[in-house]
Amino acid sequence: MKKAIYPGSFDPITNGHLDLIERASRIFDHLIITILHNHRKNPLFSLEERIKMIEKAVSHLDNVEVQSYSGLLVDFAKEKDCHIIVRGLRAVTDFEYEIQMSQTNRLLAPDLDTVFVTTDMKYGYLSSSTVREVAYFQGDLAPFVPAFVADELKKKYSGTAASGTD
Ligand code: ADP
Repeated sequence: MKKAIYPGSFDPITNGHLDLIERASRIFDHLIITILHNHRKNPLFSLEERIKMIEKAVSHLDNVEVQSYSGLLVDFAKEKDCHIIVRGLRAVTDFEYEIQMSQTNRLLAPDLDTVFVTTDMKYGYLSSSTVREVAYFQGDLAPFVPAFVADELKKKYSGTAASGTD
């Protein structure tokens, strides 16, 4: 059985992530979406909130599960006896960072390979940070995230920002 891990922060999950998950779920027999939580990062959504949102977003996919891990991805992969990491490439700007990570992982775990998947062009610009920025200024989130994720974002930012001149 070919299984793969798709790691990320997913803060929050976007339509770009989902497009990639759907593609990867067709390539592999089993996909483990892994929220890597990093204590140096200060996420908008808690780990539990992110897990819940991803589980809801992928509930139509039978061969996909969601887990979280605090530690090195290579150790998680070893634990799961998994040898494939899936990452997304949006544009050349992603490439430098992604190649560095995959080579580092290769040094740490020589039998671990990274497979890059590109999304539909329409998600090429999309990132969780852009989505958070749009939500902060109460912009339309419909093109970027599932409706229930948009609702969660609105709740997070209700009563905060307003646009205007300084
Ligand atoms: P990280 O903090 O590890 O970059 P993210 O949650 O931002 O985690 O992204 C996880 C993975 O999904 C990364 O490989 C990233 O390049 C990819 N990704 C994010 N958004 C998109 C998108 N719109 N199209 C393709 N890949 C994407």
